[in-house]
Amino acid sequence: MGRAIEAAGWRLDSSYARLPEPLFAASAPTPVRTPRLVVLNARLAAELGLDAAALRVDGADIFAGNSLPPGSEPIAQAYAGHQFGHFTTLGDGRAILLGEQVTSQGHRIDIQLKGAGRTRYSRGGDGRAALGPMLREYVISEGMHALGIPTTRSLAVATTGEVVMRTAPLPGAVLTRVATSHIRVGTFELAAALGRRDVLRALLDHAVARHDPELASSDPADLPVAFLEAVIERQASLVARWMLVGFVHGVMNTDNMTVSGETIDFGPCAFLDAYDPAAVFSSIDQHGRYAYGKQPSIAHWNLARLAESLLPLVPGDAEAAVERLQAVLATFPGRFARHHVAGARGKLGFAAEETEDAELFAALLAAMHEAGGDFTATFATLVDLVPDIPAASAVARRPACGPSVHVPADWRQAWRERLKREAADPGEVATRLRRANPNVIPRNHRVEESLAAAEGGDFGPLERLLAAVGDPAAESPSSQPYRAGPPAGSGPYRTFCGT
Ligand code: AMP
Ligand code: MG
Repeated sequence: MGRAIEAAGWRLDSSYARLPEPLFAASAPTPVRTPRLVVLNARLAAELGLDAAALRVDGADIFAGNSLPPGSEPIAQAYAGHQFGHFTTLGDGRAILLGEQVTSQGHRIDIQLKGAGRTRYSRGGDGRAALGPMLREYVISEGMHALGIPTTRSLAVATTGEVVMRTAPLPGAVLTRVATSHIRVGTFELAAALGRRDVLRALLDHAVARHDPELASSDPADLPVAFLEAVIERQASLVARWMLVGFVHGVMNTDNMTVSGETIDFGPCAFLDAYDPAAVFSSIDQHGRYAYGKQPSIAHWNLARLAESLLPLVPGDAEAAVERLQAVLATFPGRFARHHVAGARGKLGFAAEETEDAELFAALLAAMHEAGGDFTATFATLVDLVPDIPAASAVARRPACGPSVHVPADWRQAWRERLKREAADPGEVATRLRRANPNVIPRNHRVEESLAAAEGGDFGPLERLLAAVGDPAAESPSSQPYRAGPPAGSGPYRTFCGT
């Protein structure tokens, strides 16, 4: 067994564990009864310099938390956060960071077990996770990655042979989550709340070394503001990308927002079927705080919490420091709008910029909203509507059945007029449209169906779904079942936080 572990290619270091103690607690995974590796991401393993064949031999023990890979110094990270607007101190209550895998290019990538047992921060929780939600995070995070959206990734899921009690007894599982770091806005909130400038400073320097090494040589007096700006830029881009694929995170608490700009914590998230800016899927989000259309303003609110946390590190008198941070914070809406309109242009097949483009995009959304049009399918079908498309590019993308597609005639005409001014040949426009408008996303009903099968022991549907969402541009007939919308009469989709 030991030989396979060595051969797997682990190169773990733990720079986070060298930070001041209040930011983490040493914490080993609790062994489970019967570890079994049920999903392994061979491609991601290879990117990390890990040998999938070796991991298949004894990865179950590592990915379930029964043995540690060489070099691991397991810890639970401490953090705080605003949950639905209320401040609270938290921490990894059921996640354990094994360490940072150092890749051949010298990048540090966190390897974390989620559902690996109780930690100092578990409060009343059992430290465990159920199979369905861990597979859900696996599918959706890998789907997001395939869509080109920054996200934490999923390396493996192992079942534990134990039962976890939720509203019903469920099969237990551990997810191996991979991230450029797990530092959250809430990590900075905790450091600030401790009232320890040394801790805050050490965290900032660590985060800068991991995510913004080019800032490391700046004047220490400017670093907090420069770092805030970098995080704002990453989040503006990230949330714009979510909006452009119809992603609803569902629980944008500040502890679920990274400073890396990666999507994290796939609890009650879901993708829009019919376009609706007020769409909320999470059963606990009763007031729609985290509705689809509110995500940009919530991101801005969360970043204000980051700005406040950094305040003690900005030198000079308090008023001037607040002003500096506020000036940077105020750039968020403009940055978001720039990323969003650039993405919107891409979705309409435009390379040139015209002022009215945002309006044209909004008009299509409004038409979809009014008619209950499907977000993904409507954009995917635009390529079929490009005038004079060469025969070779004219594969009908419109799904044969399922989602309703709404592109009103007057909108179509305005769009075609605008396309004429692009002066691009139709094949080029079609290529742009295909690139920007996915055909296959992790459709909610498909995700649920594959999880139900997996919970019953059949991982076939999940494997097929993973293959499908790994190729968002697919146009083949075999992708058709993954492009269709929810079955008629399915009623509103609901997600649960009981992850
Ligand atoms: P989340 O809603 O997944 O972002 O989690 C919010 C907080 O609750 C985090 O600090 C988690 O570590 C903690 N938590 C969630 N589920 C459990 C559990 N089963 N046992 C212990 N802590 C948990
Ligand atoms: Mg969380």
